[in-house]
Amino acid sequence: MTHNRRDFLKHSSALAGTAVASSLIAPLAASAAPAQTPRAKSRMKLRFRPYTLQLKHVFTIATSSRTTTPVVLTEIEYDGITGFGEASMPPYLGESHESATAFLSKVDLSKYENPFELETILRDIDALAPGNPAAKASVDIALHDVVGRLMRQPWYNIWGFDPRKTPYTSFTIGIDTQDVVRQKTKEAAEYKVLKVKLGRDTDKMIIETIRTVTDKPITADVNQGWKDRAAALNMLHWLKEKGVEMVEQPLPKEQVDDLAWLTERSPVPIIGDEGVQRLADIKKAVGVYSGINIKLMKCTGMREAHKMIVLARALGLKVMLGCMTETSCGISAASHLSPMVDWADLDGALLISNDVYDGTRIVDGKVTLSHRPGIGVRKLKG
Ligand code: MG
Repeated sequence: MTHNRRDFLKHSSALAGTAVASSLIAPLAASAAPAQTPRAKSRMKLRFRPYTLQLKHVFTIATSSRTTTPVVLTEIEYDGITGFGEASMPPYLGESHESATAFLSKVDLSKYENPFELETILRDIDALAPGNPAAKASVDIALHDVVGRLMRQPWYNIWGFDPRKTPYTSFTIGIDTQDVVRQKTKEAAEYKVLKVKLGRDTDKMIIETIRTVTDKPITADVNQGWKDRAAALNMLHWLKEKGVEMVEQPLPKEQVDDLAWLTERSPVPIIGDEGVQRLADIKKAVGVYSGINIKLMKCTGMREAHKMIVLARALGLKVMLGCMTETSCGISAASHLSPMVDWADLDGALLISNDVYDGTRIVDGKVTLSHRPGIGVRKLKG
C-alpha cells in the first residue's frame, strides 16, 4: 500500500458528505497561514478562453468532415490552487465558442463556500440554461480537479477504482479512400482495438481493406448512417463475421422501435450514442440498446458520468466511455472512470497536433492514468 493510498483511506470518510469534506480542507488552508491569524479562504474564481484544436488528419464521419474543433479551456482558482477543465464542441452538436463563453459568463462561483459542494454547485450550473452540456462539463471538470488537488488524491482513488484495470482504447479510423484507410490501419499498429466509422456506401470496402492489414478486434460507429432495419441486420451479421465486436448507433436515434427490433436480433451489442445523452435518458435505453456510450461533453461532466455508469450497470446495460476530439484535459478527466467500463474510446487527444496538457497517456494502446492529484494534468504551455 502506498503512502498516498494510506493517507487517502484515513480521510475516506470525508467523501460521505460536504460537511465532513469541508472540515478536511480547513487544515490544508490553515497550514499555509500563521496559526494565530487564519486568513479568510479566497473565493472560487472561474476563467475561460476559446482555443481551436488542429486535427492531424481530415476527420470524416457519416454526417460531416472537418480539420479543426473549437474548445474552451477553463480554470477554477481556489485558495491558491488551480483546477483545469475543457469544453469540446464538434460543430454538429450545436455548441460553439460563442455559446460556451456566453454560458460561462453567467457562472458565478464566488457565492459558494468551497468547491466540495459539488452537488449543489453543479445542480445550480445545470439550471442556468438548458443544453450547453460541454460548457457545463468544462466547469465540472475544473471543479473536480480543484477538489482532487485539495484532497491530494487522483479521482480514481477518490472513487475507489483500481488504476491498473483501465481498458485498451480503440483508435478511430474515419471514412476515407481505400489507400488512406490502409495507411491509417498500418499507422495504428500500436492500438489493440480499431474503431471504424461507417454509415456511407463504402462500409464493406473499409472493413475489407482493414482486414487485408490486420485481424485485430474492430468496433464500428455508424453515427445514425443506416436507415433500414432489415438491411442493417444483414450488415450486422456480415460485420460479426468480419470480427466486429460492437456497433454504435446504427440507425437514427428517432427510430426507437427499429432500434429495439435490431437490438433484439443483433449478433453483436448495439450501443446508443447520439440517442443517449444524460442520466435521464438511461431508463429509456433499456430494451432499445444493449448499452450506452457516455461522454463527458454530452452529459455535463464527471459527476453525472459517474452516476450514469452506476445506473446503467444496475439496469443491465453495457457501458462504453467515449470522447470528442479533446485535449488531454478532457481525456484525463474521463479516464478516471475507465476502469469501470466495457469499452473505452479515449483517443481524442491523439488526433490533435496542439495539445495543451499532459495527463493520461495511451501507452501501447492502454489507457494509462497519471498519478497526479485531481484529474492528473499538467499544463504544457500558455
Ligand atoms: Mg459514436
